[in-house]
Amino acid sequence: MDRRNFFKIVSTASTGVMTGACGKRVERYLPLLVSDHEIAPGDEVWHPGVCGECEAGCSIIVRVMEGERVVERKGEQFRERIATIKKIEGNPLDPVSGGRLCARGQAAVEGLYHPDRLRGPMRKQGARGHGEFTPVTWEQALDEVAGKLRHADQARVLYLTRPQAGTRALTVARFLQAIGGPAPVSFELADFPLERKAARDVYGWVDVPVYDLRRATYAVGIGADFLGGWASPVFYARQFGHFRQGRPGVRGKLVQAEPRFSITAQSADQWLPLRPGAELFIALALGHLLLSEKLSRATVPEQVRQTFEAVDVTNAARLCGVTEKRLRQVARELGESDKPLVFAGASIAQTNSLAALKAAAWLNVLLGNVGKPGGVLPPSPDAAASRPVYTNALAKIEQAQFLFLDGVDPLYTLPASTGVAEKLAHIETIVSLASFINDSAAHADQLLPDHHCLESGGAVFPAVADGAAVAAPFVHPLYDTRSTEEVLTALAKKLGVEVVAVTPKSAMEKMLQAHQGWDAVVRQGGFWTEAKPASARLPAHATLETPQAVFQGDVAQYPLHFLPYRSLQFDDGRSAHLPWMQELPDPVSSAMWSLPVEIDPQTAAKLGIKTGDRVRVESPYGKLEAPAYVDPAAVPGVVSMAIGQGHRHFGRYASNRGANPISILAPAWEESTGALALGATRVRLARVATGGGLVQFAVVDREAGPWGRR
Ligand code: SF4
Repeated sequence: MDRRNFFKIVSTASTGVMTGACGKRVERYLPLLVSDHEIAPGDEVWHPGVCGECEAGCSIIVRVMEGERVVERKGEQFRERIATIKKIEGNPLDPVSGGRLCARGQAAVEGLYHPDRLRGPMRKQGARGHGEFTPVTWEQALDEVAGKLRHADQARVLYLTRPQAGTRALTVARFLQAIGGPAPVSFELADFPLERKAARDVYGWVDVPVYDLRRATYAVGIGADFLGGWASPVFYARQFGHFRQGRPGVRGKLVQAEPRFSITAQSADQWLPLRPGAELFIALALGHLLLSEKLSRATVPEQVRQTFEAVDVTNAARLCGVTEKRLRQVARELGESDKPLVFAGASIAQTNSLAALKAAAWLNVLLGNVGKPGGVLPPSPDAAASRPVYTNALAKIEQAQFLFLDGVDPLYTLPASTGVAEKLAHIETIVSLASFINDSAAHADQLLPDHHCLESGGAVFPAVADGAAVAAPFVHPLYDTRSTEEVLTALAKKLGVEVVAVTPKSAMEKMLQAHQGWDAVVRQGGFWTEAKPASARLPAHATLETPQAVFQGDVAQYPLHFLPYRSLQFDDGRSAHLPWMQELPDPVSSAMWSLPVEIDPQTAAKLGIKTGDRVRVESPYGKLEAPAYVDPAAVPGVVSMAIGQGHRHFGRYASNRGANPISILAPAWEESTGALALGATRVRLARVATGGGLVQFAVVDREAGPWGRR
């Protein structure tokens, strides 16, 4: 979708009026006996919206047509004409999506029409955690929740939510303030507490930096699988496309250093397969070489310089598991490049990841690229300061009396060893605002389901572009759901306090220029401004720590490193309920409807494991069983597994399917941020059954199948 076509197709769309496909309100009922060919399909209309599948805040455009559903009226069945959503595309005006979408964005429509979506409020029936609920009216549900909230200690109200900046977060904050509760908390794998703290400590920025990859000429990626789901996947996929092919005569070179052959590593010119936890040591070695080879372009604080200078490159290369020769070559190419960039993230966090990210940030300072084209740029300001703050909320969960679960599933995204299940069991009241019964919602007392993102209005402030993506509701909600903003204002009213929901218009009016009309903003799906000139407040004095990563589990009993990672198709598990995502072949193993344990050929041969065998992965904190995939590119001694399967409750397509790698992790954290150290657990492997456990789109040895090699 390009800009010209965008204006052609959305020019007739209404601004914020909920419509049928042709702009008419749809209330018509047709008897079932009227045959299909007597029903003329409606015209298509495109409306702007905001993708809600992750926190990146991509603006989208949505194709709406007249459709129908079967409803019952007084015991008789009718076809009801409704506006149906047929297709989602990226909004070409949006600097985040640029007219493109990731697979999960495309599949958002499946969440809307999912057969297991909650159709109205429900109350727990029977024991907690069984996932059994009975329907109630909204009035009953709100009365019951307000009654419990009224008698709760407001200081022990905990609101767990996603780390997205926007109008919804502002309304949540207003609600909690009005009832005297603490601020909302983000406690998600998809937050980036390590990246934020490193950026604050080194650059003086409050959020995840933006890497201007499109204008760089040589990039070293350290630990950030930015094509596989880190931060803003569509934005960085577009950046990477431009880096490689967008400039006549210039082809950017990417060297990726990671302990997994991730999607980014697969797309790089060179992959440096690191030992887990060695990201810090490659950054230290590169810093040392930039200084010793006189390739640095700017100075760093004295103590940071001394730390880089003290690095023994031979030893660092050994710790990393790469040759010193390759390290020296990469340092030279990086230092001599026209526009060098070090692109760092903690896709699989370790206990020393903060130090690694800070060392990588100091490399960018040495390269003189901070705030410059092709370098590292400041994040877009969260103009309304609305993004909930990441906190290790385990202690808060333990003390909570009343818990709101808003778009989060801590029972799935936290290891069992943290005791999260026992902590939830002690909470007096749990209210879930999710659209589905997931593992955590199954423990709720009340379900107050939100609208789907395609039925909702709101504004999201993306972290990688100045401005906001804006959605006005354009179809009637399919079911008896209510927006969370509406639920919170209604609860506040019952508690005798007033909360006015923050609307996109009220939140953004001050940001608009005098000549910018609100209707035009809604019609184009948001407004975005040129990034302001970048500057960093580098500290005059700073130190650089050099801790080794700490791993849980005795190496003699648990000899293998275990690396769970957020998957392209499921993220942190939140998209596993969508059948398109289940059917999407896994980029590593091409597995469908399952996720395997990825094992290197040496380890597999030693244990007699073949692709498709069922294996047991055991840590000191638990065990799981899953099919094996012998990955020729896996680092020896490193076992990886994508996150996404292993839900007990998440609709018919995801429930009781596969295993959750997070479930067997140690309760290990990066101390200063409280980030879960996903890669800090050692495991052992054993084969438990032969074959039959893996469905692959393309089997690895198909070329050597019964028809022989061609
Ligand atoms: S990156 Fe994908 S899932 Fe996330 S908002 Fe954009 S389209 Fe949606």
